Amino acid sequence: MNSNMIQENLQNIKATLPKNVTLVAVSKTKPVEDLQEAYNAGQRIFGENRIQEMAEKHELLPKDIKWHMIGHLQSNKVKYMAHFVDLIHGVDKFSTLKEINKQAKKHDRVIQCLLQAKIAEEDSKFGLSFDEIENILASEKLKDLVNIKIVGLMGMATFTDDKQQLHKEFSSLKNLFNKLNTDNQNLKTLSMGMSGDYQIAIENGSTMIRVGSSIFGKRNYN
Ligand SMILES: *Cc1c(COP(=O)(O)O)cnc(C)c1O
Repeated sequence: MNSNMIQENLQNIKATLPKNVTLVAVSKTKPVEDLQEAYNAGQRIFGENRIQEMAEKHELLPKDIKWHMIGHLQSNKVKYMAHFVDLIHGVDKFSTLKEINKQAKKHDRVIQCLLQAKIAEEDSKFGLSFDEIENILASEKLKDLVNIKIVGLMGMATFTDDKQQLHKEFSSLKNLFNKLNTDNQNLKTLSMGMSGDYQIAIENGSTMIRVGSSIFGKRNYN
């Protein structure tokens, strides 16, 4: 995609965002040149879904970029990003939190994490049930993990044009988020919304959207 397009897309999206909503530019599969263009246009937060790809791009690009891991995590690869990752969106197992904690400790860091909730009807999407999320947040063993901090929740809606369905799924996660905060959690980030549905996600309380193709163009998986 030509460079002006990336800059224009970013500007158009940012112009519509409420101030409390953070834009993660999802750059998976895209060459570093495209990320550099977005960087030159002022973007500083990038999301990737493969740890190795993110680590390679981190090596090549400016060091003030904040890297978000948005993909499903393989525990054995956490070590490759523990020294630099800013926020991990897709945590859906307690054992993964333990591994992130272990790797973060080696670098004397506290890594921020989001718990991924399953809100879609599709079987293919990962995520914890609402009960599992409540149990993890309330568990005593979480307190031992001092090198991670759960700062919020993440969800992916069903891939559909049915707006009512999307409203229903996003609002269910917002309700859980509010309930947990009423219960004494101090969650600040609610990561929901992608290119096709981020407006609806924002209407339902999203504070962080993950937008790829609307910024960088269609992805080409070979
Ligand atoms: C790829 C991806 C996105 C971005 O998708 P677009 O439709 O290109 O905006 C957002 N979130 C997750 C978890 C993804 O894997």
